[in-house]
Amino acid sequence: MWAYAKKISERVYLLDTYALGIPGTVGAYLLKGPKPALVDCGYASSYESVLRGAAEVGVMPSDVRYVIPTHVHLDHAGAAGRLLKEMPNAEVIAHERAVPHLIDPRKLIESSTMVFGDSTMSLYGLPEPIPAERVTAVGEEARLDLGAGLSATIMHTPGHAPHQVSVLLDGTRSLLTADAVGILYPGLKAMIPTTPPPSFNPQQLVATIGALRQTTPRGLLLPHFGSRDDSDWVFDRTAELVESWVDQVSRMRKLKMSLDQAAESMEKGVASDAGMEDLPIHAKVSVRTSVMGIMHYLDKNS
Ligand SMILES: [Zn+2]
Repeated sequence: MWAYAKKISERVYLLDTYALGIPGTVGAYLLKGPKPALVDCGYASSYESVLRGAAEVGVMPSDVRYVIPTHVHLDHAGAAGRLLKEMPNAEVIAHERAVPHLIDPRKLIESSTMVFGDSTMSLYGLPEPIPAERVTAVGEEARLDLGAGLSATIMHTPGHAPHQVSVLLDGTRSLLTADAVGILYPGLKAMIPTTPPPSFNPQQLVATIGALRQTTPRGLLLPHFGSRDDSDWVFDRTAELVESWVDQVSRMRKLKMSLDQAAESMEKGVASDAGMEDLPIHAKVSVRTSVMGIMHYLDKNS
């Protein structure tokens, strides 16, 4: 039997959403205090995995008090609307710039369809609108009390997306990074930067890494995927890769290489970092999406 929840610490669980049926690719985190909070939700098509994972650790849908999509990308907020229907006592907390897309996801669906295409979108599932009265907007920083001494600081962490937040647990200083740091899939010994369209901004992302470093976290919890205790390495490598991928893709763009060609070339680099002949399909999709985001950024800024 597949396990859906993994204990990280006394009150923190990693939920595997089994995105598109693949384990270890898209995670959500359940903070289990008197007021349980779900940080990230997975794709709309994986909402049942989230419910299963929560149930595995004794959290029923009606127990959940907060749902915190770190940003509106479909692998983080896609299931939020559907989950809220199952969670009558939950409110959504999101950055103020994310809120309009959560309440009315039509534009988000349109732009995601342009990036991923119709057939992939049907695998991801479409986000459902969230009633405005169930959403609380936050700005640069907010505190969240989860009961019994468990509290969190929600921080604005732009760069990957302008409306992204990360969550720092005040007691243990575990940092739920969202996509502010690179992708580290279990079993793949290489990082892939998180630089997708349409709003990746390298300067903001590097500034965010600096700000997160200042919080001196004791460990990182990544949506893609799992816990890391080598925070400094993860921060260093993320900043390094953002810079070097922007440089490399910029050179390829000047040579008029197509997206496919550029993605293939970057895939080879990641495979070689990882000491592999070829990358698994989910890693290829991540590389391609990140190359696409850099090209989009360069197009907008040239
Ligand atoms: Zn993501």
